[in-house]
Amino acid sequence: MAKESLDVSESLEMVKLVARKIIESEPILTDADRNLGDGDHGIGMQRGMTAVLEKLESDSFADIKSIFNAAGMAMMSSMGGASGALFGTLFRSGAKALDGKLAFDSSSLSDFLVAANEGVQARGGASPGDKTMIDALDPAANESLQSKELPINEALGAVASAAESGRDQSKDMVATMGRAKTLGEKSVGHPDAGACSIAIIFRAMAEFANN
Ligand code: ADP
Ligand code: MG
Repeated sequence: MAKESLDVSESLEMVKLVARKIIESEPILTDADRNLGDGDHGIGMQRGMTAVLEKLESDSFADIKSIFNAAGMAMMSSMGGASGALFGTLFRSGAKALDGKLAFDSSSLSDFLVAANEGVQARGGASPGDKTMIDALDPAANESLQSKELPINEALGAVASAAESGRDQSKDMVATMGRAKTLGEKSVGHPDAGACSIAIIFRAMAEFANN
């Protein structure tokens, strides 16, 4: 059934599903980072999302903003390193765009994604084409702007597909940021690990809203 929007408790369940999907995807993310980096992305994301799950299960939340903000804080304080700061920034910057919201609709999704994308680019300095998580996040944010009139389940489906095709397109890119930069042309042929995480995050949200 088409859902126009998710309420606070549904949004909380959605973010918990995101955490569980990332935790169970640890082997995929580990492999992805082994191809291009140092192989720690899967374990880092698993640790971060375990902290997210613990936080979301032990606290209560009055609005949507505080759910995403708590997720970002939990990632930042548990993961450390570049990607802890960057994924933490994604959730916290996105949360800032949701002041006072009690419903997560496709317009809020777009506000969240545009702010998250801007926040991560400002923090990490990467742009589209550098073969980072931005190559999945930027197309997702752009797609969300086209999906503002859709029910939330359809908007999330479109956003997840955009993130997945961004992840796939990152295979052909030469890395110019992060650890993979040292591989140069040898980085071609594998998708970026952070882009894989972004695709899993938004596919999990879409799955929640479509069930
Ligand atoms: P580390 O690079 O410290 O080992 P992870 O392996 O957890 O951290 O994360 C690597 C991912 O982080 C990359 O696949 C890429 O998507 C993302 N990343 C690295 N540097 C940047 C950056 N400057 N901007 C955006 N994303 C980045
Ligand atoms: Mg790594």
